[in-house]
Parts: sequence; structure tokens; C-alpha cells
Amino acid sequence: MAHLAFFNIPAVGHVNPTLPVVEELVRRGHRVTYTVTDHFVASVEAAGAEPVLYESVFGDYYRHPYTAEELPKEGLRFLEEATSTLPRFEEFYADNKPDVILYDQMAWAARFLGRKWNIPVVRLHPSYGANESWSLQAKFPMATFDEGPVVEMAGKLAALLPSMGYENTGPMEFFTHIEKLALVFVPREFHYDGDTFDERFVFTGPCLGDRSKVQGSWSHDGDEPVLLISLGTAFTGWSEFFDTAIEAFGGTPYRVVMAVGNHVDPETLGELPANFEVHRRVNQLDVLAKAALFVTHGGMNSAMESLYYGVPMVVIPQMSEQVATALRVEELSLGRYLKREETTVESLRKAVADVTQDATVTERVRAMRDSIRAVDGPVVAADAVERYLASESR
Ligand code: UDP
Repeated sequence: MAHLAFFNIPAVGHVNPTLPVVEELVRRGHRVTYTVTDHFVASVEAAGAEPVLYESVFGDYYRHPYTAEELPKEGLRFLEEATSTLPRFEEFYADNKPDVILYDQMAWAARFLGRKWNIPVVRLHPSYGANESWSLQAKFPMATFDEGPVVEMAGKLAALLPSMGYENTGPMEFFTHIEKLALVFVPREFHYDGDTFDERFVFTGPCLGDRSKVQGSWSHDGDEPVLLISLGTAFTGWSEFFDTAIEAFGGTPYRVVMAVGNHVDPETLGELPANFEVHRRVNQLDVLAKAALFVTHGGMNSAMESLYYGVPMVVIPQMSEQVATALRVEELSLGRYLKREETTVESLRKAVADVTQDATVTERVRAMRDSIRAVDGPVVAADAVERYLASESR
């Protein structure tokens, strides 16, 4: 049996889709180690992996900066994360060399280790994949390469790469490099230009698993239609949005479940309407299993989980990747795109009403749900990894 080492960034949305794959690999008898901050220890242990604990520059888990000026500095933080975690990973893995490294595209330290020890690597795409003709950076850039902090990051990375075994590789090549195997946790039919991705990309679709051991469960007995409202785990600092949502849906026939995350204190939301329940975090899969509609920021996991449960969406994106997803949701008639700056009590109510009354949306969401459920994502992923391992050890 093989030793598979997962490397990620401490972001819930990046870790979540990998956990059912870990579980499947462990079920098949493999040893799985997973580098994590304290926040994720319980989750990876529940999946059957051995946590390899490290301190992150992002703290226990990733929360997004909220100002436009902060965004271009993210690359510098990821570089610092890579260099500051590498000694810890080298120390642990020197006596525990894995047969394959599976890395999130932002976990650069994993690539340095793979190169140093000549270990095969697999890239993990919790969101969109990137090939020669389509990438998020090209189509929906988060930052451009002429902004000060991005230039600084590229300069520092360029200086570092040769010492990490990348002698003739510039930062751009480092980022756009395509591995022999990448797992994309999105169905091909949802992905932009899905048919341009060749056999190096395995589209597993959403990998959800059971999170109740770690997250607890959610249930509701009433017959009211359930409306889930959440901005995910990282982009939750927009407190006015939650006030707007309360005003828009308080006193309506919906049972509203609103997860506000860590930036906003639920106490500051005032007295809640009787049809509202507010959580910092809720077992989203349990709520979606009962939900009629999801008002979401369009994080890829949230979008995928919604489709898995056949729940149409109103997507209010906070950054470029989520804009891409909002547009795709609208293009495929899976819901509506509502711009953040156009979000008001009225526009929110209208978007929700439009989606629920649109028979095409109902039909397309059902079709997408059925096609997603026809694929067992974790099994497809584990098969691909085992095939890759076998081909590399020949
Ligand atoms: N999530 C959850 N409960 C919450 C909010 C989020 O379980 O109250 C989970 C959600 O199911 C998803 C992940 O956290 O798996 C959020 O990932 P996503 O890609 O949607 O957004 P991000 O948090 O990365 O912006």
C-alpha cells in the first residue's frame, strides 16, 4: 500500500472537497498524511488521515482580507507560507517519504518538496482547473502582474525557485505548469470550456462526505421552504449584507437559516425575526438537503454542494472567481447572478422570487443534480491516483 501526502492551505473551501477522497484512499488501505493547522486536525482524523501539524501565516484558518488594496498582497502571504512551512514539512517527511504528493495549487511548499525528493505530484483544484487555453487568471484575474506587491512576490519567487530545484523556471511557468494528473472537484459540464481539458484532468465533480462527526447536524421539523443564506467561511466580513437579508426575508413564509461566519457577531444583528435562525457556522450539507433556495457568495464548494442537492442559487460574488461562478450559474440557468453593489432588500427579494418562479431553472438544476450524482467523485479520484501511482512506479 502506498503513502499519500496531502498538502493544502488552511482554507475550509480547499480542504473540504479533499476529505472524502482521503477517506476513500484510506478505505483502500493506503496511508494518508495531511499537513494541517490545528483547526483541521479533527476533520482529517475523521477522514482517517494522520495530521501533520504546522503553524500557518494565515492563523488557524484562512479569512479573506476585505479591501482592494489588500488583495494583491495575497501572493506574498502565500510565498511566506511556503518558505516558513517548508522546514517543518522537510523534518517530518524526511523519514516518511511519500509515494505521491497531492497538493493544492496554492500550497507551493509541496511542489518544492516533490522536486527536491523527485516524488510524483498530483494537483488539486477545489475550484476551476487551468490548461493551455483556459485559466481563471487569464479570464477573471484577481490581480494583475503589474501591481506592486505582485511584482515583489514574483521577484522573490524568481530568486527562490533555483534553490528549490527549479533552475530554469520563472514564476509564470511555475504557476501555469500542468501536472500529469490534476483532480478537479467540479463536473466537466459546469466547468468553462470543459471539453478543452484532456486526460491529465480528472473531473470528479463535488466530493461531499459526511461532516456530522466534526460539524454536528442540523435539522428542522416544519414544512416551510428552507432558504439558506451564507457567504462561506472566508468572505464573511460584509456585515450590511446580513442586515439586508434579515430585512428582505424576515416575516416571509421561508424558514431562513443564515450562517454569518467569524467576522460578524450574531449578537450585533439585533432581534431576529421569528422565521430566522442565525449560526456562525452550520452543517451546510444538512441544510441544503432540505433547502428550496441558496443565497450564496458563490464559493465553488457552496455552488457544487447546492447543485448536488438540486438547490437553485442566487449568487452574490465577492471576488473574481466567484464572479466567474455567478456568470456560469446564470449561463447554465442554475440560478441568478446578483451584483454585490446592486444588492438591496428589493433586488434580493426579486432575485429569489425570479429563481423560484423560473421553470427552466428548476429543470436545469435537476438535470445537473442527476448528472453529478451519476458520478462517485471520491472513487473516480482514488482510481485516478492509483492509476497514476502505478504508471509512475513502472
Ligand atoms: N460551510 C459550512 N458551514 C457554514 C459555511 C460554510 O459547512 O456555515 C462549508 C461549505 O459547506 C463549504 C465550505 O464551508 O464546503 C465553504 O467553501 P466555499 O468554496 O463555498 O467558500 P469559501 O469559504 O472558500 O469562500
